[in-house]
Parts: sequence; C-alpha cells; structure tokens
Amino acid sequence: MKRILVTGGAGFLGSHLCERLLNEGNEVICLDNYFTGAKRNIEHLMDHHYFELVRHDITNPFMAEVDEIYNFACPASPVHYQYNPIKTTKTSVMGAINMLGLAKRVKAKILQASTSEVYGDPTIHPQPEHYWGNVNPIGLRSCYDEGKRCAETLFMDYHKENKVKIKIIRIFNTYGPRMHPQDGRVVSNFIVQALRGEDITVFGDGKQTRSFQYVDDLIEGTVRMMHTRDSFIGPVNMGNPTEFTMLQLANEVIDLTGSKSKITYLPLPEDDPMQRQPDISLAKQELGGWEPKVNLRAGLKHTITYFDELLSSGL
Ligand code: NAD
Ligand code: UDP
Repeated sequence: MKRILVTGGAGFLGSHLCERLLNEGNEVICLDNYFTGAKRNIEHLMDHHYFELVRHDITNPFMAEVDEIYNFACPASPVHYQYNPIKTTKTSVMGAINMLGLAKRVKAKILQASTSEVYGDPTIHPQPEHYWGNVNPIGLRSCYDEGKRCAETLFMDYHKENKVKIKIIRIFNTYGPRMHPQDGRVVSNFIVQALRGEDITVFGDGKQTRSFQYVDDLIEGTVRMMHTRDSFIGPVNMGNPTEFTMLQLANEVIDLTGSKSKITYLPLPEDDPMQRQPDISLAKQELGGWEPKVNLRAGLKHTITYFDELLSSGL
C-alpha cells in the first residue's frame, strides 16, 4: 500500500483521482483550500478508512511522509483563475516549489498536472510536446499559462539538480461529472444553459475548435504515467485528438438534452486560442497503448445526467 498526496483533491479532476487511487488500495491524503473545489465532490470518500482530508493552501509548505504526489491544485477555468491572477501564479509557482521541496525531502515521486495552455494560441497543429508554444506573457490568461510554464521549469530543474523523480502531463480540455456548475468552461456552461432553457452563449463565431477528453480517460492516463519507468518524465500530452467547433458542441448539447435553448453569440474573449488539438503519439507509445476511449456523445450523456441531478437538488 502506498501513501499518496493529491493536491487539489476536492476539485473536479482531483476528486476522481482520489477515488481511483483509493479503489486501487492506496492510502490517500487529499489536500485542498476549497477555492474551486467542494466537499460534496469527495463526500462519498469520507468514510473510507484510508482517506484523509486536509484543508491547506499549497502556497504554504506542507509536510507528510508520502510515496507519491499528484500536484493538481490550481483553478483551471478562465473565470476562476482570472478572479485573483496573482494568487493563480502563486499557486502554480510557490505551490510547485513547496510540493517539489516535499518530494525532495521524503523522496516521493511527483506528477505535475500541466496544461495545453503552455502552447498558448498555437501556430502549429496538432501540438506535439516539442513545440514551445505561442504564449502572451502579459495578457488575461498569462497568470495561468505562465504559472504552469514556470512550474514545468521548476519540475525539470528539481529533477536535474536534486534527482527528484518527476512526471509532467499536459492536460487538454477535460470534462465530466463534478465540474463546477459556474466555472465558465464551455462544456459546463452549455449543459447548464441547455438544462435551464437559457440561451447557449457561443463566443465569437463558434468556429474555434477544442478537443474534449472525458475525465475517465484522463485519470487512466495519469495513473499510467505515474507508473512509467523513472527515466520517462514527459512532458506528455493527454487529451482526445478528435476536434470539434464550439458550434458543433452547442448543437450536440441541445440535441442530447432535448432543450429549446437558442444559440446566442457573444464577443470572443482576449487571447482565446482558435484551435487546439493534442498530438498523443508519445502518450500512446509510452503509456502502454493508452488512448481516449469515451467519445463526445457518450461523455456528454454522463455529464448531462450529473448536472441534471445537481440542478434538481437546488445547488
Ligand atoms: P478545479 O478548479 O476543479 O480543481 C482545482 C482544485 O485545486 C480545487 O479543488 C481548488 O479548490 C484547489 N486549489 C486551488 N488553489 C489551491 C491552493 N492554492 N491550495 C490548495 N488547493 C487549491 O479544476 P480541475 O479541472 O480539476 O483541474 C485540476 C488541475 O488540472 C489543475 O492544476 C489544472 O490546471 C489542471 N488542468 C485541468 C484541465 C481541465 O480541462 N480540466 C486542463 C488542463 C489542466
Ligand atoms: N466558450 C464559449 N461559450 C462559453 C464558454 C466558452 O463559446 O460559454 C468558448 C471559449 O471562447 C473557447 C472555448 O469555448 O473558445 C473553450 O473555452 P473554455 O473556457 O472551456 O476552455 P479554454 O479556452 O481554456 O480551452
């Protein structure tokens, strides 16, 4: 049995990860400051004998004897990470320093949840890991993008200088149950709007693309990455390469919910990337043939069921 620390464990992805790691017979310490996470995401794990919940902010040091660390703490949606941009950068940078310091001290293996945002508004398509990106260092999204880029730098340097065992994954847009209903990301926005019969807000002309990965596929890839040989540190892209326009997504959600919602067009936010699609050849090669299995329609159905129940419960 391993003792595993999951930072951001009460969030959308972190809560699925805690659940998976417990199911595999590990002891899990879930650390969160509840900025965007919620106790309801991990409520069902509270009675588990080997689950421990700690309220803690990773911009402060944390000590615990652990074997592995999954560093997932950081607001991920533009609405939330732009709410307090300085805090967002601190969470990525100081959080990485604190967690890497812990890993170094207790000789734990540590995995960083990085992001496709390190590619910014990419000029090559799809994006392979060796692409350096096209990021605005002083824009609205910079606190997140540059914070995550700096965290990757810190991971690499702790590995080179201090022999810390690291893994870096670059997560592309991921969706599923336990997303925050007000987090402003496109999948949650469209589903909540459709279920409430409100207008579906498409930003720009809706022709920009994203590739959407269902949460179960991401968790499978993440755990596989942690178990790769020590010399494979990444970064490795993790996403679903099937690309959709925001208009296609809106129509799929309207179709699946049977909603009478109409599409309305709003201005495109600043620095909003026009295209994003992962090249997942490296992940396939290094993670035992891993590739996403859940298609958009199937994943949306699960997510719609979740939001339907959440909204009916009055939350
Ligand atoms: P989320 O907002 O649901 O989860 C983030 C969690 O971190 C929340 O529980 C939040 O309360 C916690 N947190 C934030 N700041 C903290 C701090 N200073 N100290 C302690 N806890 C803190 O978002 P998510 O979608 O689950 O994302 C999890 C991780 O995956 C993030 O690091 C994010 O950057 C990364 N990621 C997610 C996606 C995606 O599409 N969901 C894509 C790329 C990268
Ligand atoms: N988007 C949209 N309507 C919304 C929310 C988002 O059209 O209500 C668009 C947004 O402009 C972007 C895409 O959907 O082009 C994905 O946005 P999200 O915030 O989910 O993720 P990110 O931009 O970080 O990939």
